[in-house]
Amino acid sequence: MAISGTTFTNWAGTERCTPARIVRARTIPEVQEAVRRAAADGLPVKAAGSGHSFTAAAMTDGVLVDISGLDRVLDIDRERRLVRVEAGIAIHALADALASHGLAFENLGDIDRQSIAGAIATGTHGTGGTLGNISSQVVGAELVDGRGELVALDGVDDPDGLRAARVSLGALGIVVAVTLRCVPAYVLRGVDTTAPLEEVLESVDQRVADHRHFELYAFPHAPRALTRTNDVVDEPAAPPGRLEQWLRQGLLETYTLKAFCGAGKRVPRAIPRLNRAVTRLAGTSVRTDRSDRIFSSPRDVRFVEMEYALPRAATVPALREILATIDRRGFAVNFPIEVRFVAGDDALLSPARGRETGYLAVHMYRGMPWEPYFRAVEAIANEHGGRPHWGKRHFQTAATLAPRYPEFERFAAVRARLDPDGRFANAYTDQVLGPARPVGSTAAAVAR
Ligand SMILES: Cc1cc2nc3c(=O)[nH]c(=O)nc-3n(C[C@H](O)[C@H](O)[C@H](O)COP(=O)(O)OP(=O)(O)OC[C@H]3O[C@@H](n4cnc5c(N)ncnc54)[C@H](O)[C@@H]3O)c2cc1C
Repeated sequence: MAISGTTFTNWAGTERCTPARIVRARTIPEVQEAVRRAAADGLPVKAAGSGHSFTAAAMTDGVLVDISGLDRVLDIDRERRLVRVEAGIAIHALADALASHGLAFENLGDIDRQSIAGAIATGTHGTGGTLGNISSQVVGAELVDGRGELVALDGVDDPDGLRAARVSLGALGIVVAVTLRCVPAYVLRGVDTTAPLEEVLESVDQRVADHRHFELYAFPHAPRALTRTNDVVDEPAAPPGRLEQWLRQGLLETYTLKAFCGAGKRVPRAIPRLNRAVTRLAGTSVRTDRSDRIFSSPRDVRFVEMEYALPRAATVPALREILATIDRRGFAVNFPIEVRFVAGDDALLSPARGRETGYLAVHMYRGMPWEPYFRAVEAIANEHGGRPHWGKRHFQTAATLAPRYPEFERFAAVRARLDPDGRFANAYTDQVLGPARPVGSTAAAVAR
């Protein structure tokens, strides 16, 4: 949790707020009390997850409710493969709890430090052409609404409510519990290797189809790409020993990456050579372990990130345009472009809503200029109907986003119902959703 004294700071260190009050809630009545008191004092409210969003999604100058104390597993139904948990539980803690019951997440992103509610709120995803984002596994949500009432949302009694709550940007209320669909525990073999970039781009569809999880990392200026595949194996997990773990994650992933990034920051003109060296030196590594341990790894090198969800067929053309733009404009980029694939889903504000999706993520080492590069990437994503990751940097507004989400208005209606006074608004929701509005008025009127 990134709260220190009276200040809340995000992981990247780029967003910070000093709320009027910070409430550390450990029970649902404490969350309700926090919302009611805020209403009485005329203050806005925001729930804080683990602060891993690059945007100001969780920032507020009103009341910040820290729900990291709401972290219990409430019920595990092994037969039906359902788990009901309090919303502040960290993904890694939930993965451990599931494993001890022979269950697992269907898919995860590349870190496991987020709270489950925070990850869900922004549409956090991993990679896998037939697999949805984490939110797509949510079958029920319980939240404290703008009046301080506890509301249970499920797909039978309130399908719109649930589809809105699955990717909510925290704008509907404070989620206090979620019910997730899980799968039987499984072991993955993860293979990281390199291949000529052109060869990978030509065969992307086949690679996505051939592997449960496929992703690629395209380094600007380098003719080779890194590829990562994870596939289920019927073998016992073989977790690395402590030394191997330290060598792999500590020495190689952290120190080597830090050294490369630091060198590129000091001498930007060396970046093309550095990128080529990274892809030349990278060998092949194979790991076999419990699924969640294969998906995620520690991230100690700080960076800023933008990520766009594109229609699947636009992914490779957009990637080529980004690489060409980096060359043409001379951007100093020493992080690879990460390319992932996700199945479509039906959450009202999911970036993967209604379409098979390819994600392109661009990064910049902390302290290096990122805005001109990110704006250029966003212009390319715009041409392809891209939708930004809600937790990562972008420059969109409600006016530019509404046309990209066929059910934007439907989300606004659920928001007006659950939060009629805009209690859960902040500068970020004002920017991307428009100001909260009374029930009955149209989102188009607000976006104008
Ligand atoms: C190093 C790193 C790696 C990442 N890897 C990936 C990845 O692989 N895939 C991916 O898709 N994303 C990734 N992300 C982005 C990250 O998963 C999202 O930004 C996620 O939302 C962060 O979760 P959090 O718990 O930190 O939430 P926060 O950032 O604290 O909050 C996010 C939003 O959720 C809301 N929220 C939190 N708790 C509640 C609640 N109880 N009720 C209502 N609203 C709530 C907040 O108000 C805010 O609007 C990564 C980020 C970092 C820094």
